[in-house]
Amino acid sequence: MKFTLKVKYLILTLSLVFVATTSAQTNSKFKVVLDAGHGAKDFGAVYNGCVEKNINLGIVLKIGKILEADPDVQVIYTRNDDTFIELVERANIANRANANFFVSIHCNANVKPDPYGSETFVMGLSKSASSLAIAKKENAVITLEDNYKKKYAGYDPNSPESLISATLAQEEYLDQSIELASRIQDGLENKLNRKSRGVAQAPFMVLHKAFMPRVLVETGFISNKEEGAYLNSEEGQHNIAKTIADAIFRMKVEHFGGTMPVIDIKKYEKPEIKDSTPKVNVQTQIKDTSKEIKKAVDNKKLDVNKPIFKIQLKASTSKIEAKPENFNGLDKISFILEKDYYKYMYGETNDFVVAKMQLLEAKTKGYDSAFIVAFKNGIKISLNEALKK
Ligand SMILES: [Zn+2]
Repeated sequence: MKFTLKVKYLILTLSLVFVATTSAQTNSKFKVVLDAGHGAKDFGAVYNGCVEKNINLGIVLKIGKILEADPDVQVIYTRNDDTFIELVERANIANRANANFFVSIHCNANVKPDPYGSETFVMGLSKSASSLAIAKKENAVITLEDNYKKKYAGYDPNSPESLISATLAQEEYLDQSIELASRIQDGLENKLNRKSRGVAQAPFMVLHKAFMPRVLVETGFISNKEEGAYLNSEEGQHNIAKTIADAIFRMKVEHFGGTMPVIDIKKYEKPEIKDSTPKVNVQTQIKDTSKEIKKAVDNKKLDVNKPIFKIQLKASTSKIEAKPENFNGLDKISFILEKDYYKYMYGETNDFVVAKMQLLEAKTKGYDSAFIVAFKNGIKISLNEALKK
């Protein structure tokens, strides 16, 4: 996928931060919470005799079995049988376990029988009507819970966007979530040879409540006859499970160490049918998101006693006038003079999450090697130091 490289680059530049934020977990096992969507009275989508809750559970148990073969990995299931678990409780199970990753497994559905393919979601804003519709459908489960109005006060199941305000403040795990989501989609597309609809952001309640890198995989369309049958088959579930387990292992090995097991994924061989539904691009969505965040920042007063994050765009020996035309349209440009070099920076915020969004924005505007810098009382400090404060 096109955006993966850029996202990867961002992840590399932020790897220091990543190590800092996850080091608390390195002493224990690598914990993965697997969440089989729906259960018991909540069937999820049902088409052509295939029941979503059963497919989700089948895939989750198969992923778990592969992961558990590694003694360094601990798998926690939100459900391992046909029970009803409330959405907030699913997230709480992951929070209590202090899990490294939360992976929720679902099947997509559409009133039209032709759409097919997998899609992985990370928590976030969405401008895409189809992503919002999927989040709305999955979030609607809460209406089956007792007292849901009290429990999810302020949340309107008909408007998933109502999750947004809290999200801006808590979205600390976006990079790792996108990396895992990209690996899962990459595997489903290239190793399993099935259609990928890409990685997207959407306000899912179950992701909103979990505080760790987290993704929700719509493994395929149960409403598509051919794909539904594949999802419902043992062979299909085994190979989807292997592909998702492979992606989780790659994240584990890269960021937490250990060795990569050999996972033999059987390629899907049937020729692909053309489907006109466009593939989503998380990069564009993030661009939209950053506009929203910019608005939020503009209204927020900067606290000069706290660390301030800026995005360093470039360094130059000559002085450039700080106007948007000279910086690919980016405004709020400042500079410092360091060892004969003018270092030009974009934005200023106390919020590291906002800084990360601004970094993505700078990259989409052509500043591929931009990075985040931190200042305290006008003096440059390390990111680790800034994040400790
Ligand atoms: Zn579902």
